[in-house]
Amino acid sequence: MTVWERLRNPCGWRAGAKQISVDAMLPLLVIPILAVIAAQAFLCTVVVFVVTPVLVYYLHHNFLRFLLRTKFFLMWTITSVLMMMLVFEISVVPLLEILPEENFVFIMCVVGGMWCGYRTKLHADTTVQEAAVSIQSLELGEGSGELCVTCRRRAPPRAYHCRLCQTCILNREYHCKWLDCCIGSSNLKSYLGCLFFSAIAFIYGSNLTMTSVCHPFILIGTVLLPDDCSDVYHQLDIALCFVSALYSLLVGLVLICYLIYHLRLLYSNTTSNERRLDIKNQSPNF
Ligand SMILES: [Zn+2]
Ligand SMILES: [Zn+2]
Repeated sequence: MTVWERLRNPCGWRAGAKQISVDAMLPLLVIPILAVIAAQAFLCTVVVFVVTPVLVYYLHHNFLRFLLRTKFFLMWTITSVLMMMLVFEISVVPLLEILPEENFVFIMCVVGGMWCGYRTKLHADTTVQEAAVSIQSLELGEGSGELCVTCRRRAPPRAYHCRLCQTCILNREYHCKWLDCCIGSSNLKSYLGCLFFSAIAFIYGSNLTMTSVCHPFILIGTVLLPDDCSDVYHQLDIALCFVSALYSLLVGLVLICYLIYHLRLLYSNTTSNERRLDIKNQSPNF
């Protein structure tokens, strides 16, 4: 941990100066390296896509979870979005296979996703600040609902404590590592918007890239699907486009699963946190 702490502040900046932590900078370095390795051959792509989740889990389990508010996952999200945008605009668009209106729709979805993601974080932060202020005004015993041992105040009904945000969050879903904030009733709408627009951006961007670098076939009208992608590894920039598209597709599909999961929870008027607690309570105690 000492080594890690020292690594976090290698420049030895004065106290009070903004510290750049190694864990936050890691994705900026790791993601491009992984992309270049994956672009060498199909086997490399498979290995990188299988090994990376294991590597990130190992890093999280052994190091990151001991740092209370690590920006590693937030930086991973930002780097992924930036990389996808850059690869698309610098390498895919000059292939002249993309119509201007297709590019416009893609950019609008990316901007929509980023805007909703920003609002999710913004509203989560205001909840934390409001909660911090009200800790002083709401003394022990005031308010309604159950007593939170950590905040030492009575939280409103259906509020649950977050260890990382260090406050009680109303209708808490979970702490989203990838946006580095809690999802609760104050920012659920923005979060769902972020999932929706990002899912479209990732999947649409992936489809546009794949059909530009692979041999496409016409599905219906102007809707194309990639057919034969066997020769993408002959050129590094084309291979990078292909790897980026594959990554975007996987991320997009995961985001859609999350979106459906949250819509189902909304429909049954519950939260993922409450569902987890229900399952815990129902399971027999040994
Ligand atoms: Zn609390
Ligand atoms: Zn939280």
